[in-house]
Amino acid sequence: MALLLACFAGASVAQSAKSRQAAGDDFMYQYSIIDALMAGVFDGDLTIGQLKKKGDFGVGTFNRVDGELLIDKGRVYKVAWDGSVREASDSDSTSAAFVKFFKADTVIHLNGPGLTYEKVQEQIRHLLNPNGIYALRISATFPTMTTRAEKPAVKPYTSLPDHLKHNQVVFELKNTKGVCAGFLLPPYLARTNVPGFHLHYLADDRKSGGHIFSFTADSLTIEVDMAKGFTIENNTNAEFGKVNLQPDRGAELKKIE
Ligand SMILES: [Zn+2]
Repeated sequence: MALLLACFAGASVAQSAKSRQAAGDDFMYQYSIIDALMAGVFDGDLTIGQLKKKGDFGVGTFNRVDGELLIDKGRVYKVAWDGSVREASDSDSTSAAFVKFFKADTVIHLNGPGLTYEKVQEQIRHLLNPNGIYALRISATFPTMTTRAEKPAVKPYTSLPDHLKHNQVVFELKNTKGVCAGFLLPPYLARTNVPGFHLHYLADDRKSGGHIFSFTADSLTIEVDMAKGFTIENNTNAEFGKVNLQPDRGAELKKIE
């Protein structure tokens, strides 16, 4: 309990009156579902150009799980397995993406020293509604940041855990400054999305990034945007119609996220 109180004392919350955007913009939008991606539906029909119309912020992947996708301020980035970062072309396509039009309604400042990703998660959870859907944008200098990206899959596709086992590349980044973009989602969204925290990283110099496993930071600014709800657009790829979505893949998902 002492730890929790100490964490809480380190946080200050600035609640600002928010002039909301048009109603439709305040929902999270997702293309396909996490369980389909887990099961190996690695291709989708939504282009990056179309995705940009659904949100200016978020995370996802590309067809063939060719790298990690991050959207910030309307720009879509791909972090490839070799660690390189480039802006995605509007004609690229995604097999799974989770986005929102981002407008912070709360800003949290956390001060360390020596905050870890786990500690940051704990403190954010204390301040937010456990059943809310939140987009999170975290800016900081990170003494350490561990991320991954993956090599694209070749047909016939395996499951995502199997693919990652052989094709995931882990990056140990030192002393980078950048932005973590993603979501904190409630348990009831399991099977359609990633429950809990799911963040991708982009260094300010656009030279590194990826799906976040862990980090350390001394001081962070966390912008929080609560969504009113969410919309799922089903993947129209033929594989989505055939894949077995009966199994509960929650335990497997925990291992790879
Ligand atoms: Zn991810």
